Amino acid sequence: MKKILFVTSEAHPLIKTGGLADVSGSLPKALAELGQDIRLLIPYYQSLKATNDVYYRCTVRVNNCNVNILETRMPDSNVLVWLVDYPEFFNFPGNPYVDEHGNPWANNADRFALFCRVATEIATNRAYLDWQPDIVHCNDWQSALTPALLSLEAQRPITIFTIHNMAYQGTFPAATYDNLNLPRRLWNPNGLEYHNLLSFIKGGLAFADHITTVSPTYALEIQTAEFGYGLEDLLKHRKDHLSGIINGIDLEQWNPESDPYLSHHYETNSLNKKALNKAALQQAMGLPENPKIPVFGLISRLVHQKGIDMILECLPEMLEMPLQFVLLGSGDRLFEQQLHMFAAQNPEKISLRVGYDEQLAHLIEAGSDIFLMPSRFEPCGLNQMYSQRYGTLPIVRKTGGLADTVVDTLPATIANKTASGIVFSNAQAGALIEAIKRSLFLYSNPTGWRQLQKNAMLKDFSWHNSAQQYLNLYDSI
Ligand code: ADP
Repeated sequence: MKKILFVTSEAHPLIKTGGLADVSGSLPKALAELGQDIRLLIPYYQSLKATNDVYYRCTVRVNNCNVNILETRMPDSNVLVWLVDYPEFFNFPGNPYVDEHGNPWANNADRFALFCRVATEIATNRAYLDWQPDIVHCNDWQSALTPALLSLEAQRPITIFTIHNMAYQGTFPAATYDNLNLPRRLWNPNGLEYHNLLSFIKGGLAFADHITTVSPTYALEIQTAEFGYGLEDLLKHRKDHLSGIINGIDLEQWNPESDPYLSHHYETNSLNKKALNKAALQQAMGLPENPKIPVFGLISRLVHQKGIDMILECLPEMLEMPLQFVLLGSGDRLFEQQLHMFAAQNPEKISLRVGYDEQLAHLIEAGSDIFLMPSRFEPCGLNQMYSQRYGTLPIVRKTGGLADTVVDTLPATIANKTASGIVFSNAQAGALIEAIKRSLFLYSNPTGWRQLQKNAMLKDFSWHNSAQQYLNLYDSI
């Protein structure tokens, strides 16, 4: 049994802004189920929702601050959570990282440096918790100073750093470094300095014993200039200590056999009931109810990363094809307006819902035939996995986790029953249109299509699988 300290700035359902919260909510539970002693460390934000009791455990002094450590448990599980309680930094309403205008909190460097210092105290068993981890697993820039600080300790646990998105690095002016009172030894180009800026993420990339990302393909991509955001050389240098482990999905929440958001449940042997969800979706979105016409679905942040501009470019040609298209998302105002315009002009074919709607997301996964996810980059991605589980074949671009979780439909993969979607390479509208045409051709053969749906639905996207890979990694270091 390993003792693991899992350091994270968000964890579902306590507090969530994105995919990191899903991983932090699921992976520790899955590791606990594999018999590991794992504890989460997370800042005690005002908006953090603990449903179990919260107790005071101890007070640690770091950088002249007295910080309380509180203890609770994850909802619906026995996994212990330690909350870093420092009201001056964390007892504010709203988002963990940005204010109500979307600007980063002015004292973010102080907040997360303090968080990392507390992690370091716990990791070295100096925090009066009487518990010494074997592994400290940090995530994204907010916890990335921990491996750097631990590198200065004579007796320290093994450190792992997971990158969930290279686009966020936690960079600050050089003067911040002095204000934070961090050890001088870490300020150099091989350490936390990045072109005369302080880079939090470098603490993880340069000092962790091992680095992971959330898919094997993304682990390779971030070693190139296109995806590495200036840190590709450091990542290349560390390539022997860098690997990818794909995220799992919540198989209870996303299960077509029992999904509480659906009126009609189905599995591989009752796929005809999927048509009832399709009718419900067409009704909900105000489209003509037609069981024959293929329905395309999209659920996404409407941003450049997700290839929404490519979709807009394809729409005029898509409108000439026999299909319907339902979209759910929000994001870039210009994308929203353009999509609204297409929907208003083509109410029989396109229906758009702007906003965040969990129930509709489930109905789109269940009721669509084909799911569009032409991302420019995608560290892991979830919707392509949900889609496969719901027998909704995804069209994805060959990048990151999309490349690792969707098997293109080709003669060989049809024959060995691994084909589970349509994969295209170039981030160009022309390539996406070809993929859409290919999907329509496949859809026109009901027997072949049904087999593809079954291949997709039977794939194993469990967290158990991913947690076992993390455990193998911990054991190998
Ligand atoms: P990312 O984290 O980059 O946004 P992912 O595919 O990894 O993309 O995860 C996005 C998650 O958020 C999925 O669970 C998806 O269903 C959900 N989601 C995104 N936009 C919406 C929306 N408008 N309404 C409901 N769920 C959404």
